[in-house]
Amino acid sequence: MKIFYDENICVRCLACVSESECGGVTYDGGRLHFDETQAEDWDNIAAICPVAAIEVRRSPDWTQQRSHTS
Ligand code: SF4
Repeated sequence: MKIFYDENICVRCLACVSESECGGVTYDGGRLHFDETQAEDWDNIAAICPVAAIEVRRSPDWTQQRSHTS
């Protein structure tokens, strides 16, 4: 699972920060920061964005990163 965020369309409404319950989304220095390691409801956070600046992507490539050990 990976969070993609487009700061060019973000209107800095900070709804995603409010929706974040575990510190996964923070606003610091005029920029948003996403920490995918936090146990947030990421689909809900992405859904609450009024301009769809947040996208949650799940790809086999990201979950199989450690399977190529041979
Ligand atoms: S909810 Fe969307 S528009 Fe609002 S601050 Fe977060 S990413 Fe930006």
